Amino acid sequence: GLGKIPSGGREFPPHINLNEPSIARAYDAVLGGKDNYEVDREVARELHRVMPDIRNLAWDNRAILGRGVRHLAAEVGIRQFIDLGSGLPTVENTHQVAQRHNPSARVVYVDNDPIVLAHGRALLEENDNTAVVTADLREPDAILRLPEVRRLIDLSEPVGIMLVGMLHHLHDDENPKGIVESYMNACPPGSYLFLTHFCRSSPDAAQLEDTFLEFLKTGRFRTQEEIEHYFEGLDLVDPGVVYLPEWRPDEEPERPLTVSQRLMVGGIARKP
Ligand code: SAM
Repeated sequence: GLGKIPSGGREFPPHINLNEPSIARAYDAVLGGKDNYEVDREVARELHRVMPDIRNLAWDNRAILGRGVRHLAAEVGIRQFIDLGSGLPTVENTHQVAQRHNPSARVVYVDNDPIVLAHGRALLEENDNTAVVTADLREPDAILRLPEVRRLIDLSEPVGIMLVGMLHHLHDDENPKGIVESYMNACPPGSYLFLTHFCRSSPDAAQLEDTFLEFLKTGRFRTQEEIEHYFEGLDLVDPGVVYLPEWRPDEEPERPLTVSQRLMVGGIARKP
């Protein structure tokens, strides 16, 4: 369980601001991890007030991350992943899932929050085939030129591009669609896009979105149609862009799905 998550070093690099919540730390707080501070737990409490089972939603997101990576590594044979907006280390991180199915799978974790590197180094750089870098995913060209990316990712071979629980943190004027396209254009046919995203599916979504924006100040929720648009030009694998518990579940979820189970959607698609 979560008790086993290493807390990493407790020395704070000077650029980690303890007075403002961060997305990575607030998400860790929602998951029940311990790499977060009071200001982040306050956000988690606010989100919990609006959406009492927000923690289940966060874990549904981690669960689809695991199923998706397993699908790509074990069934499709993807051997290299760029996990963009990877977050703090938790359980079943991308390389752990991928390397279970393919021990030589290579993973680069990218997050712009320096706390991810500070706490993630020990766990996420567990072996020569994984690296964690602090960088802004909104600059695909710069990301793809990073030494860690060049060392571990061979752009002549299919890549798994992951933007899990990430793009709703970007505003439209940050051009999330163009960012996705840049990554996919840089990767060869047979590469995959894997993303999950908050969806404006229910009236409850609006209230949760307001709380998100109030505290985290970034991005927006999008409609199913807008989210499907990210996959334009790619071939969605079954069952398409669906609520998280409906994407190739290990066990069929109980119906009807709860409100929180209908707050995020996810999908995986192949570049033809
Ligand atoms: N992908 C993980 C998952 O789904 O469990 C973590 C998702 S977490 C909600 C979103 C992460 O994206 C945070 O760790 C945040 O720091 C990171 N992030 C937000 N904007 C970013 C950017 N412009 N560049 C890189 N990372 C970013």
